Order: sequence, then structure tokens, then C-alpha cells
Amino acid sequence: MELYKIEEILAGEPSYRLRQVERALYRDLVDSWRNVTNLPVSLREKLEEEVPVNFNFDSLTSLKSDSIKAIIELNDGLKIESVLMQHMDGRNTVCVSSQIGCPLGCKFCSTGKIGFIRNLSYHEIAEQVLFFSYYLKKTGKSVTNIVFMGMGEPFLNYGNVIKAIRIFNDAEKFNIGARRISVSTAGIPAGLKKLSDEKLQVNLAISLNAPNDRIRREIMPIDFKYPIEEVIGLVRSYIKKTGRRVMFEYVMLRDLNDSDVLAEQLVKLLKGILCFVNLIPYNGRESNLKPSTRERIKRFKEIIREGGITVTERFRFGDDINASCGQLVYRENTGSGKHHKF
Ligand code: SF4
Repeated sequence: MELYKIEEILAGEPSYRLRQVERALYRDLVDSWRNVTNLPVSLREKLEEEVPVNFNFDSLTSLKSDSIKAIIELNDGLKIESVLMQHMDGRNTVCVSSQIGCPLGCKFCSTGKIGFIRNLSYHEIAEQVLFFSYYLKKTGKSVTNIVFMGMGEPFLNYGNVIKAIRIFNDAEKFNIGARRISVSTAGIPAGLKKLSDEKLQVNLAISLNAPNDRIRREIMPIDFKYPIEEVIGLVRSYIKKTGRRVMFEYVMLRDLNDSDVLAEQLVKLLKGILCFVNLIPYNGRESNLKPSTRERIKRFKEIIREGGITVTERFRFGDDINASCGQLVYRENTGSGKHHKF
């Protein structure tokens, strides 16, 4: 959808009109503007003609049907991917992208290989959640959680990410509680500082993946610019200001970052920080990287737990559809999207 057009169409109208239109779309998920009877007929027709409620997308469902990946085609023909993860406990989490491609080039990530193409506007970020809201509406369900863990580094597109979060959080729009929204960053200092002052109760996740700079630099070139010590220092100030617990993500890579010694180093590094560690089994396809074995993950986890730090392991959603950042679009960005209407 060309959501940006809504504001253009309503530019000369009183401000309550924009609120009515946004409420009809984001909260009520109307199928057609013609059904929004509190709008003048001429406006309904204009919206129907210029911003019809439909999406250009391809979708793939996981064989295990716990996740669905959508590739949404944007106005300029570029494509973004978002994933819906349907949890057993009833949560429906959308993993959104904040950029097309990503400039950070993390070695375990296919998006990093694409390089940076462009930032997404807040409308394009919101559209990903809107798409899945309409998708779930058919089964009487709704989006309950949002994670910024798709393509891109959210803090390199800070303004649009925060605007999108405010749309998700707005009771008249998506009405998703801030505590159900998580932002994952490689640790961009400017973004960490700004988020500390936003007075938003969103969850912060740091993509750490190693307890020392030597290993982190092998897989995350951004560490040359912002070493671990600087990132951890900013996380400490963030926690001091917000009182919020931070998640550290750790992709488990065989013989690279998964030894006992590194688990002990990780405990030392995070000691005293209000945080928990989320271990992520690697499911990427990079030839020189391998996933840690089950036994290794188990032992790594034990050491962290014994060190007094809470540790979780992310369930492997959608392995069969490559539901990890960037992989599908990387292969398919040359194909054309399909035109669907809910
Ligand atoms: S892991 Fe995240 S920050 Fe790193 S290249 Fe991929 S999208 Fe960018």
C-alpha cells in the first residue's frame, strides 16, 4: 500500500480526519474505504482510488506452519521481507525490517551480504505489521508482538523506527504495548543514547555474539568502530536511566564463539548487568560458518546459568523457509511480486 499518500490526500482537511482514516485502517482493518461511513463519500472514493487496501506480496508458509514469511514489494519495485511467528501460547510476533539490505556486514547474516540499499520509511515499516494484521484477521487473531530483527540495523534508521514504534503503540492505531515491542541493535552508540531518553518502554536487545573484541571482529566488523567496552558502557547507562532489563543475543557458531572459556568470559562481562542472554542456534547458509552442536549449546548455557545470568534459547522458527534475516530476499530480489487483496 502507498500509505504515505494518506497524509497527502488529507493535507487540507481538519486533523480529526486523519485520525479517523488511520483508525479505520490500523485499528479496524477495514476491507474497503467505502465501508468507512464516518468519512464523506468523496473522500472514501478518493482513498479507494488512490490508496486501495491491498498489498503486493509473495508469501511462503513454513512446512511446520509456525512461521510465515512475506516478501512485500515496495513502490520502487524493491522488496522487503517480514516474518510472522505464531507461538503455541497465542502470541503472534511480527519480525520487521527497518532497511533494505544493511551496511554492517555481519558474517553470519545474509542481509549483510547484500550491502545497504536504502532506509525504509516509517510507513513501509508500519505496512509490514499491517500486512500481517490483515492476514491474521481472517482467523480472528491479531499481531501481539513486534521485533525489529529483520533486515537492517534499526538505529541507523532511528527516526523512522521510532515513528513506526509510536504508530504500533498508539491506542487508536495498532495498540500494541511498548513492552511487546523489541528493538535489536548491533550497538550503535547514538541510537542507544537516544533511546535512553525516549521514555518508551520498548525492549532493547544487543546483538553481541562474542565476549571479546578479537572474536566479535571476526563476525561483526562494526566492532572495529564500536568496541564491546563502549557498547556495554552505554547499555549500563541505558539501564540506569530506564530501569529496563536488556537482552544480549548470541548466535552459536561452532568452534568460533561457543567454547567453555568464552562462556566464562561472557559471564564476567555481563556480571552485575540487569540482563539475560538469548542463545540463537545458527541456521544460516554461510559456507565457512557452522551451527554449534546441541551438546555444545547445552554446556554453554549451563556455564552462563551457573554464573548467575539468566539464559534462554530461541526456538528455531521456520528453519524450512530460511526465516532468518535477509536470506529469501537475497535470492529473490529480481523476481516480481504478486498482487493480492485481502
Ligand atoms: S545481523 Fe543485523 S546488523 Fe548485522 S548485517 Fe545482518 S541485518 Fe545488519
